[in-house]
Amino acid sequence: MFIAKREDGSYYSLLDGKPIPNSGPYFCPACDGKLQMKVGQKRRPHFAHYRADCNASTERESLYHLEGKRQLYYLLKKYGNTTMEHYVIETRQRIDVLLETKNRRYAVEFQCSTIPATLMVERTKSYFSQNLFPLWILSKKRFQNTLHQTISSFEWLYLNYPTHSTTPFFISFCPYDKKFTYIIPYFPYSQQKAFILSFSTENLYVHSFPSMKLPFYWRKRWVEYKRKWRYEYCLYNGMIALKKYSYQHYGVSLTQLPAEIGLPVPSQFFMQTPLIEWQAWLFYDCIFTVPTGSIIHLPSVVQMFERRVKEGKIKIRTLPLVERVDYTNAVRQYVEALVAIGLLSKKMENIYVKRRSINSNANMEELMKQDERFIKAISLV
Ligand SMILES: [Zn+2]
Repeated sequence: MFIAKREDGSYYSLLDGKPIPNSGPYFCPACDGKLQMKVGQKRRPHFAHYRADCNASTERESLYHLEGKRQLYYLLKKYGNTTMEHYVIETRQRIDVLLETKNRRYAVEFQCSTIPATLMVERTKSYFSQNLFPLWILSKKRFQNTLHQTISSFEWLYLNYPTHSTTPFFISFCPYDKKFTYIIPYFPYSQQKAFILSFSTENLYVHSFPSMKLPFYWRKRWVEYKRKWRYEYCLYNGMIALKKYSYQHYGVSLTQLPAEIGLPVPSQFFMQTPLIEWQAWLFYDCIFTVPTGSIIHLPSVVQMFERRVKEGKIKIRTLPLVERVDYTNAVRQYVEALVAIGLLSKKMENIYVKRRSINSNANMEELMKQDERFIKAISLV
């Protein structure tokens, strides 16, 4: 911490550039616990609790966190007034940096360590209830500079999708290069794996993103993944319910899942259930056995989907920072993808017609060729 309370109730900041006194005592503005001033070679002078039982902040103060917080305090001044370690009396919470702009007050948290999901969700709710807009910034160290990333369930909680934005994104920050990096999960195809795009800038909170495209080989990677799914992943324990359903009702083993299942959709980020699995439930429920020429009514497909969500077969991600949670978009996009591969045709708004039957006797080689052919018709933008 950089701010401490003195015995007379006044505050002392180590960021003011005033000479550092060696007289104490100093107290935590949140819990009143006694603090020690740490002046060392490596770290910037800061305060630390003697006892580690203060719950005012969500963050253990590592060197990286302290430095990040300090950089953010100065960097964000170009957007409005910043206050270091703003203490909210009502909730006994300490915000890393409070940013007050003309229109909004932001609670800026530089989150480096992993904290329990419940704590993050509670804190986010508490900020919203106090009319504070939470801005959770993750440590840059969490993300690698690769196209293909693992995004943990902890990190997913921090996904932003403001109403003005065309795409969801994570914000990360590195105190050493003083830049924000925006990470866009373009195609999260399983619970934790995603194809991402990212870019770095000195600006916080961009309103439009530079146009970026996934490199052409994402489709090839997806086909490879689907092959692995057929041979290996479909045998996993978590797949038992789907496996039973597929085999007992339709006589299809998951290895020979129709290639029409597992078509990438832009709104996949709403889904905790992997792409192939939720589409399999939906495909069996609404499309597989329907005779050719039949009408498929989108609202009924959405209704069926909602039923599977209620049953717990399909899980939606918890996204506390997303303003418009509209996961049914993913359902509509899947139906549109089935149009793109020629299985359905669109008659009018919400009304589709099934154009051909599904070959349920296709062998593995044929199925994998279809996987390859179908992905070429799919676009994620
Ligand atoms: Zn404290």
